[in-house]
Amino acid sequence: MNLTKTVCPYCGVGCGVLAGADGTIKGDPEHPANFGRLCSKGAALGETIDLEGRLLTPKVNGKDADWDETLDLIAEQFNTAIREHGPDSVAFYLSGQILTEDYYVANKLMKGFIGSANVDTNSRLCMASSVVGHKRAFGTDTVPGTYEDLEQADLIVLVGSNLAWCHPVLHHRIAAAKAERPNMRIVNIDPRKTATTDLADIHLRIAKDGDVALFNGLLAHLADTGALNNDYIRDHVEGGLPAITQARLDDPSESGLTPQELSDFYQLWTSTQKVVTVYSQGVNQSESGSDKVNAILNCHLATGRIGTPGCGPFSVTGQPNAMGGREVGGLANMLANHLDIENPDHRDCVQNFWNSPTMSTQAGLKAVDMFQACADGKIKALWVISTNPAVSLPDADGVAEAIKKVPFVVVSDIMARTDTGDLADVLLPATGWGEKDGTVTNSERRISRQRAFLPVPGQARPDWEIICDVGVRMGWKDAFTFASPAEVFAEYVALSSASADFGRDLDLSIFADADYANLIPTQWPKDGKRFFADGGFYHPDGKARMLPVCAPTPCEGDGFILNTGRNRDQWHTMTRTGKAPRLGAHLAEPYVEIHPVDAAKLDITAGDLIELSNPKGTSVLRALITDRTTERQLFAPMHWTRQQSSKAWVNNLASSVVDPFSGQPASKNINVTARRYGAS
Ligand code: SF4
Repeated sequence: MNLTKTVCPYCGVGCGVLAGADGTIKGDPEHPANFGRLCSKGAALGETIDLEGRLLTPKVNGKDADWDETLDLIAEQFNTAIREHGPDSVAFYLSGQILTEDYYVANKLMKGFIGSANVDTNSRLCMASSVVGHKRAFGTDTVPGTYEDLEQADLIVLVGSNLAWCHPVLHHRIAAAKAERPNMRIVNIDPRKTATTDLADIHLRIAKDGDVALFNGLLAHLADTGALNNDYIRDHVEGGLPAITQARLDDPSESGLTPQELSDFYQLWTSTQKVVTVYSQGVNQSESGSDKVNAILNCHLATGRIGTPGCGPFSVTGQPNAMGGREVGGLANMLANHLDIENPDHRDCVQNFWNSPTMSTQAGLKAVDMFQACADGKIKALWVISTNPAVSLPDADGVAEAIKKVPFVVVSDIMARTDTGDLADVLLPATGWGEKDGTVTNSERRISRQRAFLPVPGQARPDWEIICDVGVRMGWKDAFTFASPAEVFAEYVALSSASADFGRDLDLSIFADADYANLIPTQWPKDGKRFFADGGFYHPDGKARMLPVCAPTPCEGDGFILNTGRNRDQWHTMTRTGKAPRLGAHLAEPYVEIHPVDAAKLDITAGDLIELSNPKGTSVLRALITDRTTERQLFAPMHWTRQQSSKAWVNNLASSVVDPFSGQPASKNINVTARRYGAS
């Protein structure tokens, strides 16, 4: 059996996979992300590629339709909305599941030809706060870390990251390194005890949004104990003194940790040169997510613990191509190649390169604002690609109602029935993993080829091709006549060269003569180059910025705090992982973790149902009584949807409050009340 080299479509680790049409799946021993390892989800990929439930023909108003007529209809409806209500009356909502080539053409169409920047992505829910933190500190959205750093570090601090379940192969790599070097220390900062905690030497059960107080306390400790790298700050950093002054104003005990816990953590961090701080959704999904990121970055910049092996901050991305989307301007406030949409020189460069008739001059609507604009009647045509906002966005019931108000809704998906697809006027069958070609970028900036190894089913088509066909029909034939994803990728690389004068981080020149078909997994900007090794950053003066950030005022409510997250063996809304019986066997039904003391107070015993509610909605879940969570804290997985279990899905409880800088929703720390289901 010939096996095709491709990439796992789930998390941001981006593991290499050898895949066969008969369902054979093996880890790719040559891929630098995993060296042959796969987690349970990756190993079960072969059980998820059948066609059950697939959307195989275009549908208009629920009826099978012809591709050409459907594409004509979409172009006509979008053009009509733009003509009658202006370019900002239309919007695209994309996904970290689509490929870089898909992202590139969608952004080109919206920003450079329609003339609006209303193109955002579900990656807004995942890492937008990290993007803001990076840009504020480094001048660009640069993730400096590599996976090898995790193996070379002497101290790994995992903040708001259940790596063992959400990025399992990275967790395996760390566990293997720790087994070889027992002196390696791991600190897990998480209100909950997770599978990741089991590997940690120290577990710090942080209070709700206590991260800034914790890391400001660390910065003050570094300053007070003479542990700053003053030479590094003088030569490479601006803002050190104001950041330290602000840090001293915060009370580290607001992190919820005891003086002994704080002292032990601060001493360990201070006395260890090789420190990597890994952070994920527990940091990003917060009203103060961007400030949390900068509080972490400040500590690394203040000590020069960045740019050398085994050192640095490391934001790990949730989705397989969240990073690729960022690279090609997949967020409403960015342009391709990490250029800024609000910078006229950057805009001119991209517009000239695209030879486009118009260019959006300002940031577009970020995810939550986009659906609010739908609710307000401002969006007349919406195209959702490869995601399910009617269940995955916070205040999901409100989002579903908002989508119903849009006069013309297109949904591209591989599945015939989704909560969002059910609200669409037009459904477009997309090719899925195993059926389409393109590239993705993983959390360590490594671009890998996703390769087709299955026949295209029914009338499904790749997203990049569908978007281009609509662009052509809207009137821009020359700009959207690509024959293959290889041609799209080549244009993206050429744009990188055209914008090289701006000296950004995203230099793709090594791909200029790439053999796309045989592209080997490659890190940008260049294998072996380490970002910030020379102390050079991307602000105009070449220096980094330490940002004075202020801990939010603690506001514990009377009720419970609900956190949501992933199960080890499921992915998002389980459209694929739900097909594999062995994955479903891990945790078969929705549940909520509750502490034994709270369970006793509520007269709940194992297996009882608990009703969670707040003004946004109600959810009923099976009680899992465990001291892995603390009193007044609950945890529930977010995989079940309204269609699968109308009572047990939890995203309807989440708040749509966002971080003011990143627009990322504060999906963690949800205030709810809890009671035994049926109790009066
Ligand atoms: Fe796939 Fe992530 Fe598991 Fe690797 S760690 S096999 S990318 S889900």
